[in-house]
Amino acid sequence: MRNAKEILLRLGVKPVNSGAYAGEWLDTEGPELISYNPANGEELGRVRTATAADYEKAVAYAHESFKEWRMVPAPKRGEIIRQLGEELRVHKQDLGALVTLEMGKIIAEGEGEVQEMIDICDFAVGLSRQLYGYTMQSERPFHRMYEQWHPIGVVGIITSFNFPVAVWAWNAAIAAVCGDTMMWKPSSRTPLTAIAVQHIVNRVCERNGVKGVFNLVIGSRKEIGEALIHDKRIPVVSATGSCAMGRHVGEVVARRLGRSILELGGNNAIIVMPDADLKLALRAVLFGAVGTAGQRCTTTRRLFLHEDIFDDFTRSLVEAYKQVRIGDPLDPHTLMGPLVDQKAVRIYLEAMDAIREQGGKIIYGGEKVTEGVPAAGAFVLPTLVEAKNSMPIVQEETFAPILYLIRFRELDDAIRMHNDVPQGLSSAIFTTNLKYAEKFLSAMGSDCGIANVNIGTSGAEIGGAFGGEKDTGGGREAGSDAWKGYMRRQTNTINWGDDMPLAQGIKFGD
Ligand code: NAD
Repeated sequence: MRNAKEILLRLGVKPVNSGAYAGEWLDTEGPELISYNPANGEELGRVRTATAADYEKAVAYAHESFKEWRMVPAPKRGEIIRQLGEELRVHKQDLGALVTLEMGKIIAEGEGEVQEMIDICDFAVGLSRQLYGYTMQSERPFHRMYEQWHPIGVVGIITSFNFPVAVWAWNAAIAAVCGDTMMWKPSSRTPLTAIAVQHIVNRVCERNGVKGVFNLVIGSRKEIGEALIHDKRIPVVSATGSCAMGRHVGEVVARRLGRSILELGGNNAIIVMPDADLKLALRAVLFGAVGTAGQRCTTTRRLFLHEDIFDDFTRSLVEAYKQVRIGDPLDPHTLMGPLVDQKAVRIYLEAMDAIREQGGKIIYGGEKVTEGVPAAGAFVLPTLVEAKNSMPIVQEETFAPILYLIRFRELDDAIRMHNDVPQGLSSAIFTTNLKYAEKFLSAMGSDCGIANVNIGTSGAEIGGAFGGEKDTGGGREAGSDAWKGYMRRQTNTINWGDDMPLAQGIKFGD
């Protein structure tokens, strides 16, 4: 279970170390990328990254393959995704363990991520018999007007390290049933999981004689990432990652009038009212702030506590934080694994300096974990800080388990502070008062893409459209009608009469 090589073999990864797939594993000649286990610093494997020439080969292949894939009936495309879901069910444990080994999230979350892939496959299968367009009433006699949705082309998928497989699946399952082919550039911090996923999807495609739909290029941001976002052959770029990355990608894609789907950083908050079920709130805050070691885009980073419950709730939180078992993420008893690497630990420690300089009070944590874990592991303590919303460090997303506790008296003040950050991804209120709940969900409430009542900020279901506003980028992935981002809309008007009436009643040369 613990050995990456054995897991990779069980996942069907033959000992190739190529970092690019386009109908075949390419003979990549870019610099070697070494993948390390963040829990102990051990090497997991090596991948030869793609060069600009490999990228060119892959994108040309994806572009050519689109011509065929777009004409496969959507329900037949759905059948491929149904089989992908089945294949993922078979490999859920191994792929989940590989996610845990390479990225560091605990095994329950590693497997949960694969379950999310399965769920989106199921969703996409149903979608493949829908992809509905409207029929409109024409103002002209003997005319019929309707709209239809066509595949758009090659979709570029740029993914972050923290959901190394699920984010690909959100995009890939939907893009595939929509009739698009794709180019996946995963995070260089999680190349092995990407290669494993590519092998899984390849087996399904080979069984069905499908080629060129799912393509992979692992390589540097500078060489591969930049080539992809500048490429006019890629009409849609779906990019998941930091706000800084998204701002750049958005600008480059917009300059060539391409479409981008941006899923960027969050600065998510929970408001707890004095009438809330506090036990429920405590559990939600703990999962939201500590889960995935604070490395979810939806991680709870700010907690607005009403002044009447501030002290008691804080005490309960500290007690709960003391119980969090930190260590080997493959151990099912562990609640918090390591950060993704030592750079992330450095960023966490720098945030502690900034907190102290800016007048924050560290109530719990704030340090590296050194005892009971491997010396080379990237372990830190989950941290509670009494803070003010206006502190610069609170306005930023530090990708680590740091929770800022902020006091308030009136709900309106809490909502104002809640919205007073650059990001707008996920949010929640805990209350049993209908008026408070509805206010939070109303147009004068949370400004986020996701707003919950008596549920924390993280752990979204795939059925909803997922994404956020402001610096979070405005993109939507996964459920609801997010599929529309992966297709082009065409309005059709058919004249089946004998005259040629013009719209708006215009007479022209009659
Ligand atoms: P990151 O921005 O460092 O990298 C994300 C991806 O973008 C990587 O594949 C990276 O190689 C690529 N990239 C970076 N610069 C690029 C460029 N110039 N051209 C093309 N590609 C480029 O993010 P990360 O550290 O991997 O992930 C953590 C971040 O992702 C956090 O901010 C988190 O909130 C965010 N995230 C958001 C969502 C969401 O749905 N909103 C989901 C997961 C993660």
